[in-house]
Amino acid sequence: MVSAILLAAGKGSRMKSDVAKQYMEINGKPLLYYSLKVFDASVVDEIILVTRREDIDYVREEIVQKYGFQKVRKIVPGGRERYDSVEKGIRAADKRNKIVMIHDSARPCVTNRMILDSISGARRYRACTVAMPVKDTIKIVDENLFGIETPDRNVVYQIQTPQTFDRKLILDAYERLRADKEVRITDDTMLVEKYMDVPSKMIEGSYENIKVTTPEDIQIASIYLN
Ligand code: C5P
Repeated sequence: MVSAILLAAGKGSRMKSDVAKQYMEINGKPLLYYSLKVFDASVVDEIILVTRREDIDYVREEIVQKYGFQKVRKIVPGGRERYDSVEKGIRAADKRNKIVMIHDSARPCVTNRMILDSISGARRYRACTVAMPVKDTIKIVDENLFGIETPDRNVVYQIQTPQTFDRKLILDAYERLRADKEVRITDDTMLVEKYMDVPSKMIEGSYENIKVTTPEDIQIASIYLN
């Protein structure tokens, strides 16, 4: 059984817009609608939606009820950082579900194939993430912006979501995170790597599975979603 945690509690400050990013419209529907639609029609057993506290009623009425989504079990308030929101989502999920899948609602082009492959990956490896090989050469730079190292492009991947885990593994990682003072965690694969020493298996994503971050991304996502 699988719980999907759908994250929509960010501020989206790089969007430079008055409307929060997750509610900006793409082809006439709010950004959040698209990933919700894919998850609702998938094999996941429940969806926990994480939003900002002040948006809960709006999301329930104007998105979940309006479009008739069936699998949203709870809408819970997020936290300050992304990982705070993830933890709140996982703790609100049904404890009997052994697999938790975490997805950024800012990635509207997620597909059912990615969800199915991620569930198989998590059953087999306990931790997996959707990812793609980088197309560009990547540089590690020093503080003066001089390139100091060039990793082999064949071993560098860009990480997307969904990221999918054995429930106990990810919860144990969060326990350890809470005992730690120095934290800079940008996603959950990093968390299980750092605290549990468990590497995540890369599952093929798509170059279209972009994270809508800046205004240009709205145009690009609109093309992909058409
Ligand atoms: O800020 P960033 O683009 O990394 O956010 C990725 C996803 O995490 C977005 O879907 C955003 O809504 C979510 N998020 C969250 N709670 C936060 C920060 C980000 O749910 N405190």
